[in-house]
Amino acid sequence: MMETFGTVVVGAGQAGLAMSRCLTDRGLEHVVLERADIADAWSSRRWDSFTLLSPNWQTRLPGWGYAGPDPGGFMTGAEVRGYLRDYARSFGAPVRTGVEVRQLHRVAGGWRLTTNRGPITAGTVVVATGDLARPRVPALPLPPGTHALHTADYRNPAQVPEGAVLVVGAGPSGQQIALELAGAGREVHLAVGRHKALPRRYRGHDAYDWMDLLGMHDRTVDTLPGPPVGMPNAVLAGGTRDLDVPRLVAAGVRAHGRLLGFDGDLPRFADDLAATVATAAANADHFRAAVDEYVARTGMDVPAEPAPAPPVVPESPAAPVRTVVWATGFGRDHDWIEAPVRGLDGEIVHRRGVTPAAGLYLLGLRWLYRRSSASLDGVGRDAEYLAGVIASQHQLLAA
Ligand SMILES: Cc1cc2nc3c(=O)[nH]c(=O)nc-3n(C[C@H](O)[C@H](O)[C@H](O)COP(=O)(O)OP(=O)(O)OC[C@H]3O[C@@H](n4cnc5c(N)ncnc54)[C@H](O)[C@@H]3O)c2cc1C
Repeated sequence: MMETFGTVVVGAGQAGLAMSRCLTDRGLEHVVLERADIADAWSSRRWDSFTLLSPNWQTRLPGWGYAGPDPGGFMTGAEVRGYLRDYARSFGAPVRTGVEVRQLHRVAGGWRLTTNRGPITAGTVVVATGDLARPRVPALPLPPGTHALHTADYRNPAQVPEGAVLVVGAGPSGQQIALELAGAGREVHLAVGRHKALPRRYRGHDAYDWMDLLGMHDRTVDTLPGPPVGMPNAVLAGGTRDLDVPRLVAAGVRAHGRLLGFDGDLPRFADDLAATVATAAANADHFRAAVDEYVARTGMDVPAEPAPAPPVVPESPAAPVRTVVWATGFGRDHDWIEAPVRGLDGEIVHRRGVTPAAGLYLLGLRWLYRRSSASLDGVGRDAEYLAGVIASQHQLLAA
């Protein structure tokens, strides 16, 4: 028996749940298919000490918001998972767990989804499977016997074999994990790639509070000078302390340029550490200048803060390592979508999540529309927009 739904949402992370809430509000019949469990990524792909970078209050989803005692705090992975499970429960989200969609293709009047539990047809499909679905690991041969793991599989220092560790990548995950390993007494090397520095707090307020005030999260993709491809993440950690390469070095981490490969047992690094750290610091300067300009313009009463000295980071000598932690990010996994909707770069073409194929929508991608589109706080507005589009589509078909 082939099951049929008006709308199928694929994925029950925050994007799929926000979509489900908006469809529910409009009385649109649907089901959410989830291959694992609700909000699975927040437990299965985060390390034990993980906390959000965004404050608790910036987790506003349609019909749901943080109501706990610490709006300026930072949830752990388990807390985010609980928050999203409570959200699903709050409106009886029709989620089916353990259902993996393996193929999606067009059929007359809609879409056919091939799943591990049998085929399903739907008039509309919303793909909410996450922008960070597949751990990205460079095709770089490692010396024989080297233990390697991606940040998605890292849990704590005890899991990493004895011996020196090389963390490759200086985004927020790489820097947090390097600091944790150094704090556990490990010899840690960090291959520093492109990233952005950001002060955790400036002039008495959290960076995310400033970003909200300055409207930075609301910036839309059509105001960018080019496509938002490969834009590095700003480095922060939950809490009140700054995290950057100079602080890691002060904590005992040995910093290097980009990893190029290995000569025998010895890692080979690019000679770009100073330039990369200076470029990262320029982002923090740019942010402070934007805040200063806002304060001057609005007359906001906040304390002044002196500009920090330019960072100086000594390049450490290369040394053999026993373990490599790939902090090299994640990519999308849309291979299972078979539809003539891809651009020359192989990515699915869309405008605000609406693809050229009738009834196929995307949600939760970085810069889907706004800077905040892939975040807990931003995905809801895209879901509301798509629900409006889907509702008018259904009305047209019913007319
Ligand atoms: C280390 C890290 C830190 C982050 N910190 C923050 C932060 O502080 N604040 C913030 O707002 N955002 C943060 N993010 C970004 C973002 O909020 C998360 O990536 C979030 O998990 C995205 O939610 P999502 O619903 O789009 O995707 P996901 O949470 O990845 O959910 C997608 C779901 O789809 C399911 N799925 C995938 N393929 C299929 C299939 N074929 N069939 C059925 N089900 C499928 C998956 O099992 C998964 O449950 C962070 C991301 C990372 C990686």
